[in-house]
Amino acid sequence: MPIQKYKGLGLKLTPQRLAILDYLEGNKEHPSAEGIYHAVLRKFPTMSFATVYATLTTLRQKGSIAEITIDPDKKRFDPNTEPHHHLICSSCKKVVDVFEDYQVRLPESVTNGFDITGNHIEFYGFCPVCKDQSDIRKPKGGKH
Ligand SMILES: [Zn+2]
Ligand SMILES: [Zn+2]
Repeated sequence: MPIQKYKGLGLKLTPQRLAILDYLEGNKEHPSAEGIYHAVLRKFPTMSFATVYATLTTLRQKGSIAEITIDPDKKRFDPNTEPHHHLICSSCKKVVDVFEDYQVRLPESVTNGFDITGNHIEFYGFCPVCKDQSDIRKPKGGKH
């Protein structure tokens, strides 16, 4: 675990916080605060949701994680703060990173004088698992 990377955060690195950072490191699942809480609870049964939430808030304020709001049900967190887009499954809410640079040009008539510095595109669809389930009407034998 790259503890060194977190040294500059100005965070007191308690074992609980390290467990949260460890869980998020390289995590591509875009977990919610609840998901992170349940994952670290296995290691730290005394962990409180408030601690998880406060740590996530601090990390977001320090720019080491991003908060993404593409899931209307809950905020999700992304340890990858490089600009990227997202693909979301409309059925199971799985979120996949899209690292493509789209040059979307807005005509001046709609920018309202803004200097555009970035964009975030949300693509919606059905992941392979959900597509499979809707494509094949009859239930699959064996699995699940
Ligand atoms: Zn899905
Ligand atoms: Zn992402």
